[in-house]
Amino acid sequence: MFIAWRFLSPIHFSVKDLYPAVKGDEFPPGMNGAPVYLKPDITNPLRSLILQGWRDHAFNAFVSNVMPLNRTLPDPRDNWCKTQNYSTDLPQASVVICFHNEAWSTLMRTIHSVLNRSPAQLIKEIILVDDNSKMDHLKQQLDSYVETHGKVVILRARERMGLIRARMMGLRHTKASVAVFLDSHCECAEGWLEPLLDRIVKDPTTVVSPIVDSISDMTFEYMIQGVDDIQKGGFNWELKFTWEPLPRKVLIERKFSAAPLKTPTISGGLFAIDKNFFKKLGYYDDGFDFWGSDNLELSFKTWMCGGSLEIVPCSHVGHVFRKRFPYVIEKMAARRNAMRLAKVWMDDYAKYFYERIGFDTMDIGDVTGRMQLRKQLKCKSFDWYLKNVYPELEIPNEYVASGKIFGLSGDLLCLDASGNILKPHVDLQPCHLKGGNQYWAYTKDGEIRRNNLCLSDFDDTIGIDLCFGRQMAQVWVYNRNTKNIVNMSTQKCLAAKVSDKGSYLTTEICNKGHRQMWGMDNFKVDRLAPELQVFAKREI
Ligand code: UDP
Ligand code: MN
Repeated sequence: MFIAWRFLSPIHFSVKDLYPAVKGDEFPPGMNGAPVYLKPDITNPLRSLILQGWRDHAFNAFVSNVMPLNRTLPDPRDNWCKTQNYSTDLPQASVVICFHNEAWSTLMRTIHSVLNRSPAQLIKEIILVDDNSKMDHLKQQLDSYVETHGKVVILRARERMGLIRARMMGLRHTKASVAVFLDSHCECAEGWLEPLLDRIVKDPTTVVSPIVDSISDMTFEYMIQGVDDIQKGGFNWELKFTWEPLPRKVLIERKFSAAPLKTPTISGGLFAIDKNFFKKLGYYDDGFDFWGSDNLELSFKTWMCGGSLEIVPCSHVGHVFRKRFPYVIEKMAARRNAMRLAKVWMDDYAKYFYERIGFDTMDIGDVTGRMQLRKQLKCKSFDWYLKNVYPELEIPNEYVASGKIFGLSGDLLCLDASGNILKPHVDLQPCHLKGGNQYWAYTKDGEIRRNNLCLSDFDDTIGIDLCFGRQMAQVWVYNRNTKNIVNMSTQKCLAAKVSDKGSYLTTEICNKGHRQMWGMDNFKVDRLAPELQVFAKREI
């Protein structure tokens, strides 16, 4: 099905006009989840249209626009899933999709994938929540669309509410007993809904997430995540959500790799929940604003107050992951939400989060209501949660050192990790004493870590890279006497170098020079593995 297209650009195109930019002769493009490549030599006006798509949406909206709104997908399910008999009495679901300035084609594909790939009787309604979008195609054009699709409802926020409040607005209007939340650039795959509802009907205190497959931001290829690569949700002490590979023990113990899997946290964008249970948990903290920590709050309290979280590998939903937000975000709101979360749910463990953010406090408003809720529900302690649900999480009091790592020569310079996951980078910066990029964890195995990234010596070039698990290039010994940080692979010393561009890090033959001398916050040599302690205590 094709709908004539209107773009924000002054030039109007129909979908057909866009095909000359597409490479290959597959028609229609993108079917069965296939990638769509563009020709390299596209000229204006199509070229500007492509750039505009990237600018407005942080994904290749042009490619999305040339694909059918109801394209087919490969069946991503493990064979085991097809042998499962789900309850004959599955509850209905209300699907809530919030959006802010979403592209027409991705929004439509989300809706159509729900309608086309769910048993009709299980979908009560699809509630669209327009979080005050400004784009033309989301106004009249969307109203007309909704008018002709009985199950689709649209709510409009008069001012920008942010994702958390928008979800709550949608939830208030749902009529089914189960709410399913999706982002506005998803594609649900065959059989995605039944296994989610099945878990909830068996136990309404189970909050479930599908496997989130990746839809390429560039080509819109649907990339299936196999059951063997399944990951659990975790978090780090900055209170950021993380994906964690399954511990070997769990992998071995699992009889069916596609069976539902308990997870300490959920990523929070795509999940299904029994509405009564959500209500009992007090929904999201109503003091949360805009974006962030909603997933961890729901995760912590689900476990601590008598429920559980699962990833259901028979359920697959694709999501377009993008590398930046195409809209303005309020960083302060995310920090404030995280502080409320820590205060209400984390007991004494909150201190590790405060340490991570350099004790940078701010007004977080009143949390007594949330504390009361926790008490009234007789929720368990955070200590119980960590020990029973997330024993893999390293607790900072087990670190050999934690905090800043600073040079002992001249100006107070700190090891500083900047960049992002795609391009991690480490250098020396004036110490700002606020944790963040300058917070390091020195582990008993000699790794100098920032979350899952490790300080690494690549032939005298110092970088941070994924931790490989005690690889020698990533094992360092801090000698409490000489103040050297010695790489165990090369036996060279970490050194601060000065160039005309500023200071940088390297390793060199140890020479007792003051540029090779460092301090580490909270260093406790006895926590180091015994075989490394020998080096750490050496006199010379
Ligand atoms: N969203 C919203 N209001 C906002 C920001 C985002 O309704 O102020 C919607 C957005 O359109 C998307 C969902 O919330 O459907 C999640 O946002 P996004 O996809 O940008 O986050 P990500 O998936 O990258 O974490
Ligand atoms: Mn998203």
